[in-house]
Amino acid sequence: ILQAKNLELSFGSTPALRGAGLEVRAGEMLAIMGPSGSGKSTLLHCLAGILVPASGEVWFDGQRIDTRSDEERSRIRRERFGFVFQFGQLVPELTALENVALPLLLGGVRRKQAVRRAAPWFGRLGLDGLEDRRSGELSGGQAQRVALARGLVADPAVLFADEPTGALDSLTGEQVMDLLVGIAGEHGTTVVLVTHEPRIAAYADREVVVRDGRVNSPALAA
Ligand code: ATP
Ligand code: MG
Repeated sequence: ILQAKNLELSFGSTPALRGAGLEVRAGEMLAIMGPSGSGKSTLLHCLAGILVPASGEVWFDGQRIDTRSDEERSRIRRERFGFVFQFGQLVPELTALENVALPLLLGGVRRKQAVRRAAPWFGRLGLDGLEDRRSGELSGGQAQRVALARGLVADPAVLFADEPTGALDSLTGEQVMDLLVGIAGEHGTTVVLVTHEPRIAAYADREVVVRDGRVNSPALAA
């Protein structure tokens, strides 16, 4: 469903991707592992159309997306992708329910309908009764489950998760992963998961390793 071919991208003089390539199959959960600074997040941002590589190609659902305009890429993100990140992703001024409904509201769904679709996620993720809390009034694990609900509420084809459990203790992280795996399985959602924790990567169907801006390149470890 997603392909990256030979991606190169530098931030100033710092090379982040140096020929990275990978393929993500529809319905699978792929874990992207690798050391800090190896280019995992940059690769995820290229796959998701947030960043455009200096060279190489990104394909989603049979279409090349890296050559599209900013507007077209943001439309694809809004309509087809969901996101969960490590920190600070909930809008503090909004309630938990409004946060979950947000992608639907941004996609033009009317408020009443958006709230109706957002509400069942609270029961599903063990968040009953927390609908009216602001993010500052939630525990880390609760906030991350709200963020997960927000990432999934619009039924994305692909969920991009960058260290979704990075700020959680291991038990809470595993609970979030159990929920993610269960829901993605039910909906057939493709998941691209960035993590440096082997215990979290173990939830994935398949794993690749990024080193020095390349995927699965051997011999660089020494
Ligand atoms: P971590 O596990 O710490 O999150 P990562 O594998 O996700 O690391 P990236 O964030 O993709 O790594 O960064 C790859 C390289 O690009 C690093 O050298 C990083 O310092 C650099 N980099 C990333 N984002 C930027 C930016 N916005 N500006 C400048 N350099 C950046
Ligand atoms: Mg990162």
